[in-house]
Amino acid sequence: MIERCPRCGWEMEKKGKFCPRCGQALAEDAVRAVPQTYHPQYPYPERPKQTYSMVGFGLALGGLIIWLLTIPGLIFGILGLKQEPAGRSYAKAAIWISSVLIALPILVILAALIVAMVAANYYA
Ligand SMILES: [Zn+2]
Repeated sequence: MIERCPRCGWEMEKKGKFCPRCGQALAEDAVRAVPQTYHPQYPYPERPKQTYSMVGFGLALGGLIIWLLTIPGLIFGILGLKQEPAGRSYAKAAIWISSVLIALPILVILAALIVAMVAANYYA
């Protein structure tokens, strides 16, 4: 049985692992073992988009000064986490910072209420 090299067309009596003329890998396992030179990369934009994440991070930091900024910071952080794989770390930081900043005054108010109630009972 005559085999033909798929690359150069060289005819061989018995199929070896490589073409004796051009070195083309022939056997199936040999073909698999040959490292592929062409790696089609997932098309990635030149500058990965992370606008929401960055804006969210900025707003969350701004929330340290102006508390109200934490709410849009949280929203942009969530948007960034959902839509921008490149901005994950910024988006996560934005969500963490804004969540803590949003939760903190609520916890302080709750603690103050509890203290006030306990004090009211104590002095009643
Ligand atoms: Zn060949």
